[in-house]
Amino acid sequence: MVSPAPLQAEFSCAVCNTPFVNDYPLDEHSVCAACRGGLRGFDRAICFGGYEGNLRGLIHLFKYSGMKPLAEPLGRLMDRVLPIEDRYDAVVPVPLHWKRRWQRGFNQAELLAAHVAKRRAMPMVRALRRKRATAVQAGLASAGRKKNVSGAFAVRSGLDLNDKTILLIDDVMTTGATARACAAALKRGGAKSVSLLTLARVDRRWRE
Ligand SMILES: [Zn+2]
Repeated sequence: MVSPAPLQAEFSCAVCNTPFVNDYPLDEHSVCAACRGGLRGFDRAICFGGYEGNLRGLIHLFKYSGMKPLAEPLGRLMDRVLPIEDRYDAVVPVPLHWKRRWQRGFNQAELLAAHVAKRRAMPMVRALRRKRATAVQAGLASAGRKKNVSGAFAVRSGLDLNDKTILLIDDVMTTGATARACAAALKRGGAKSVSLLTLARVDRRWRE
């Protein structure tokens, strides 16, 4: 397997790690406007690489061609960027709606979460459920994505997340709308903090 490269950026937010072309969007603590305004919902975001090239190809093989064994090496890449001292009470995958899970046969975020959880000896907890099917995010503009997923997630009944620290796992982060909706649900359920770990993120630096 050709090694995909981690995301490189000269300027990025200290909290959500969003890369920027220059330091203009960042304040003196290197924090971006969305994080300053508390708009992200999650407390931190860590990502392995950009959603392009090699990594994008591997994610497509994994997700759309059903190459489930790729979960192991891809999970290892995620583990590599998670600070070694990080501990969480639960590793929580972003859920798929049951209908899409049934079509695909598996939830890619859950397979990745299982590998990260195993490597770090932390429990994986399927804490979230999707309340309704959402339109496929690809192709929706930023505002549409936010509207599409807000309120789409809930904590499974009977789970006590009070004061828990959560590591939320997804394969790809695009605008962050899905992660934000998940983080909001986890916090409504009592979670103390939600950190997001994704394999890849769409690098929007030269698109907007
Ligand atoms: Zn930020």
